Amino acid sequence: MRIDLHTHTDVSDGTTSPTQLVRDAAAAGLDVLGLTDHDTARGWDEAAAAAREEGVALVRGMELSTRLDDGRGVHLLAYLPDPTTPGMVAELEHVLGGRGGRVPEMVARLNEHGMAITVEDVAHQAGDTAALGRPHVADALVAAGYVAHRDDAFADWLMAGKPAYVGRYAAPITRMIGLVEEAGGVTVIAHPWGRHDPSSLPAAALAELRDAGLGGIEVDHQDHTPDQRRELRAIADDLDLVRTGSSDHHGEGKRDHDLGCNLTEPAQLERLLARAAAAAARSGATVPPGPFGDPSGR
Ligand code: AMP
Ligand code: FE
Ligand code: FE
Ligand code: ZN
Repeated sequence: MRIDLHTHTDVSDGTTSPTQLVRDAAAAGLDVLGLTDHDTARGWDEAAAAAREEGVALVRGMELSTRLDDGRGVHLLAYLPDPTTPGMVAELEHVLGGRGGRVPEMVARLNEHGMAITVEDVAHQAGDTAALGRPHVADALVAAGYVAHRDDAFADWLMAGKPAYVGRYAAPITRMIGLVEEAGGVTVIAHPWGRHDPSSLPAAALAELRDAGLGGIEVDHQDHTPDQRRELRAIADDLDLVRTGSSDHHGEGKRDHDLGCNLTEPAQLERLLARAAAAAARSGATVPPGPFGDPSGR
């Protein structure tokens, strides 16, 4: 069974529609697909319809923008929560507001550096995305011919520390872990050592998050070296956290993140679903259906 638990569509910063993502997943030989757009569940229904047609099992998820106490950003995958609980709705609204609110400042800084793009150019690239972000600013730079690819826009201008980087609101991570649990879902830290200094999330910090209710960590990810994967795997096993693997596919938006390039073991998916089912039973939330069509939600 081929299981990829972390992917994006143009509902956030991927480049394909939910329907096309599911078709691409079927073509890539995936049996189970996790849809995890940034900070929104808006793609779930369209993807679910396509998944029924294609015979792909869909795990409804999101990748939530959170932060550690020191302010550093952490992406938190949430699987199978009810996204309509008041706590989740309030946090998601706050996060999505912060995403869009910083675009004028980013554009102004790029203008100062001689790149004549406008807020409208960014909006045009974003289309009707629910989760506006730096990738859409990057797309505007590509469209105007200032850089060749999104990745180059990040490397030269948009990464933290680069001239056009502007921070935004992210939810405190332990609060978000609790909200997802109350919403009947389970959480997994996305690429914990990807693009960060691993010291920002050492084993001790992961243990604390486990104690706060974290369900798993994404071990196999393109941003982790083989050594880091080995070390994260050992930490996950030691902390009794679920281990996942995934592509973090963004369509054409990210090089070297093809669907299925990393996979989750079936036994780990089973553990993940069992944890979600336990949270759903505890919370009484009206959770979405799970990947295998079980009417109890899993
Ligand atoms: P934002 O959510 O607006 O802060 O933008 C973050 C998103 O940009 C992430 O979800 C990635 O998809 C993408 N991203 C972050 N860093 C890079 C990078 N160095 N190169 C390419 N894409 C990146
Ligand atoms: Fe992204
Ligand atoms: Fe991420
Ligand atoms: Zn992602």
